[in-house]
Amino acid sequence: MRFLLWILFLFFSKNVFTQVHRCHAEDYASLILKDADRIHTYQNRIAHVEQTLTNTASSRSEEEPFIIPVAIHFQGLKDFDPDCLTILSNRQIEILNQHFKGSHQDTQQWTHDAPLFPHAELGRTNITFVLATKNHPQGYQLSDEEPAITFNQVRGNFSDDWKNYLNIFVRQSDYLGLSPYGGTGDGDGIFISLDAFGSGEGCGEVEPLAPFELGKTLVHEVGHYFFLQHIWGERGCEHDDGVFDTPISSGPHYDCPDGYIRKCTVINMHFNFMDYVDDACMYMFTEGQARRMERYIKHNLSNLTENAQRVCELKPIQAGCDRPANLQTIPEDDGTITLQWDSVEEATHYQLQYKATENKHWKSLLLLKNQYNIETATYGKSYEWRVRIQCGNSLSEWSEKQVITGEQSTPTTLRERNFFLAAHPNPFNEQLTISGKYSDHLDDIFVNVYVYNYRGELVKFQYEKLAYGYNYFEVLIDTSDLGNGFYFVLCEYGEVKKVTKVFRSDTW
Ligand SMILES: [Zn+2]
Repeated sequence: MRFLLWILFLFFSKNVFTQVHRCHAEDYASLILKDADRIHTYQNRIAHVEQTLTNTASSRSEEEPFIIPVAIHFQGLKDFDPDCLTILSNRQIEILNQHFKGSHQDTQQWTHDAPLFPHAELGRTNITFVLATKNHPQGYQLSDEEPAITFNQVRGNFSDDWKNYLNIFVRQSDYLGLSPYGGTGDGDGIFISLDAFGSGEGCGEVEPLAPFELGKTLVHEVGHYFFLQHIWGERGCEHDDGVFDTPISSGPHYDCPDGYIRKCTVINMHFNFMDYVDDACMYMFTEGQARRMERYIKHNLSNLTENAQRVCELKPIQAGCDRPANLQTIPEDDGTITLQWDSVEEATHYQLQYKATENKHWKSLLLLKNQYNIETATYGKSYEWRVRIQCGNSLSEWSEKQVITGEQSTPTTLRERNFFLAAHPNPFNEQLTISGKYSDHLDDIFVNVYVYNYRGELVKFQYEKLAYGYNYFEVLIDTSDLGNGFYFVLCEYGEVKKVTKVFRSDTW
């Protein structure tokens, strides 16, 4: 079945459909593995790995750094400037590292998008890409300290000489990029088109061109190499990508979508690296994707991580910041709570996480300041928060967990201010729509709508389950059996109640 899909996807190339921008890892088998036996072996291996990944506990492997040795092979260049291409390559590696660590400034956008995805976290891997600089294969005139970059010396998509490296083949192509779904490091690699490699100033034919000029095609392809599927899986709402915290999706997004897009009844994460949007509009992996990639490396690519010790000059891990100190939870007069810790001069930013104590998943925020004011607590409920510091490329350890007790929690009056209720039409006759909007987000909560007549008798009751990630709801009430006159609509959301007055009139 999967193979059939691969064949179908084969026709989506940059030239045929200008809208399709990125690779298709699915194409890899049909394009690169030309004979049926190899395709069969490949499929079997993938099926096996999928099985292993599902059966492997998804524990966080934060402490485990994975170093990936990289070799870059420019192919078919007419003339070239090695120095310029080396700078461009280093820039591309730096981009990879920033995005895989979730430390690129683009990820600050997550602070804005996160409330709509209460079950997802910004993914930060402990994967580091290093251009190999020693013990190079023979025959390439590469001496120690020179980076593993070749110019018109390696042809095709495999190289026996370059086993146990993550190979990047840069050449003219109809595809922006193409990668095996689950690479093996047996001499295989990813290929990237000349106009989608690196970022900034190009070097002759190798020139990053908008809208794929920010080096993210390789981020996407490496995602496939480490066994990530596109975020929509195999297309259609019934297929998942096998990652627990990416929303279900039916297919790709293109260009730079304006606002949020709903597919398969949920808001889609079009800005995920495993979608097809323009470079400027993709900025994150999720925590689930990050863990999946690390698990894949751990169980399938130890040949790469072991080779890194031999071919990469590994700098001692840069001394990072200490874990945050002097954490304080300060209740404010207006009912909000300020979370605060000592500021650190070297900090690039702070990562704050908080959750209701009974919840499993943290919500994350990236902050430039050493404090944050929260309004999302519920009175009587207990919350936890913790913080860590990003200093350049390294992250501090998490602080001790801090608890916000019920007494410190935000009174409901504050939440009421953030809850807007509307009834329309008003006056109404046959039916009435009640819509609500709240400015914060709770998981999995019902909203109850009661309609009382002017004598205070309950005449209608309806409830609505709020969808994950939505901050509004609409309830349609059949009012054809009600008499004319005033009614009161009471809306109950958590502990918050809101009332609005409506008028029924036949003549309206
Ligand atoms: Zn892809």
